[in-house]
Amino acid sequence: VDRPRPLVAGNWKMNGLKSSARVLSEVHAGYTPGLKAKVDLAVCPPATLVGAFAIQSVGSRVAIGGQDCHAKETGAFTGDISAEMLADAGASYVLVGHSERRQYHAEKDTDVCNKAVAAHRAGLTAIVCVGETREERESGRTLAVVKKQLRGSIPADSNSRNLVVAYEPVWAIGTGLTPTAADVAEVHTLIREELKRLVGKAEQAKVRILYGGSVKPSNAAELMAVENVDGALVGGASLVAADFLGIAGAY
Ligand code: PEP
Repeated sequence: VDRPRPLVAGNWKMNGLKSSARVLSEVHAGYTPGLKAKVDLAVCPPATLVGAFAIQSVGSRVAIGGQDCHAKETGAFTGDISAEMLADAGASYVLVGHSERRQYHAEKDTDVCNKAVAAHRAGLTAIVCVGETREERESGRTLAVVKKQLRGSIPADSNSRNLVVAYEPVWAIGTGLTPTAADVAEVHTLIREELKRLVGKAEQAKVRILYGGSVKPSNAAELMAVENVDGALVGGASLVAADFLGIAGAY
């Protein structure tokens, strides 16, 4: 089976101002024809910048994404942003279920699933994030935890165009720690297996499974070479264009 076309997505988290247009320009400039031939790029800035970044990216083939969305389309939800609003602003992706949303906003698998449904309703590709905590890994529960998150967070209407799965061990996010290639392979293989029952046998092979957690230019090649790793979700390193491009260049 052909491997899916890789995706390297940057999660800017709560970082970025109007002046960050310069970083996006550098990403556009470094997304050379050679790189375009090999890998898709997406940048997920804070919601305040989604519209401007989408306009700035017209013609660049760099996709723009949100970092979260509400499950409803409109309504009395002060401060929230719907998937339709992100799509209207020019986004084509949205992260759902990032561990920081699960941790700081108490999002459960069902919430994440509802948000992914909303993303699909709006025509966005949902990047559904899963991953175990340090305590869960140390107690040998990684595979069970990830399996439960997948079953609870991935909606039934998912396919290879509207779903990307990101495996992000919580203990690897922003810590400089990464799992071994063997540990990444084990979890990504489990995700691929689970996708068979969630989206079907033919479709699962085309769903992209990203690894995220302390990906840097120096470790990207090793991580991206792992079986069933179809790209990266990059936090800190995505804020520096040269690092983000360096990771994409690992392909
Ligand atoms: C993330 O939070 O999605 C992430 C991967 O962060 P970092 O690359 O900074 O570990």
